Amino acid sequence: MGRKLVAGIAVVLGLALLPMAPAEAGFVGPFYDNMMPTSSVSSCQYRSVCQTDGGSLVVYQGGLGAQMKAATDFTLDGSYATTNVGPVHKTDTLVTSGTGETDIVYQYDGGELSSGTYGITECNDPSIGNNRCDQFYVTFNADVLSNALCDTCGRTTFQRAVACHETGHAIGLVHGPNADPGKSLQYAPLNCMRTDMPPEDWDDPTMGVNNAHWANVTY
Ligand SMILES: [Zn+2]
Repeated sequence: MGRKLVAGIAVVLGLALLPMAPAEAGFVGPFYDNMMPTSSVSSCQYRSVCQTDGGSLVVYQGGLGAQMKAATDFTLDGSYATTNVGPVHKTDTLVTSGTGETDIVYQYDGGELSSGTYGITECNDPSIGNNRCDQFYVTFNADVLSNALCDTCGRTTFQRAVACHETGHAIGLVHGPNADPGKSLQYAPLNCMRTDMPPEDWDDPTMGVNNAHWANVTY
């Protein structure tokens, strides 16, 4: 009687475990999917977040001052170049037409961004399809990133975090609410893709393992 009971439990456990198998097969690890396309950012549109066209990441920093140039250098060299979206090529020759457009054009705004918007990333050529964009403009809020707003916080860290964040959009990374499943804007595993915080809370200038994972499997 005792032995039969044990056997019965074993069978029940076995059946209970079986339905887990298909879900396990599609599971990609402890990673959180914030690479577009997602259910809410489902295609590449003009001015939207898209994937870049891959192969390498060609960037033009000529529109930046020294501080944000240094901040973009930090994130490009320390984070993005170490993933499969790299290598990163920094060019002094800006190409804005044809099939080989410069992937990311960094620039300062001309006062059009509100004080609560630290930067904005927009695809301006989604014509190549497959969720990929031939060229992005990353526009930083010159006032916010260079004036006294951040004197009491780690200004360099803030600048680097914003550079990391906007560059992330230019390879297809989205905010928490636009990811699958949706999370808060400040969900910790998003690292520099967190947003909706005051400057002193932009304290992580790195991609982190989750964003790097998606860069590696996408490119
Ligand atoms: Zn953002």
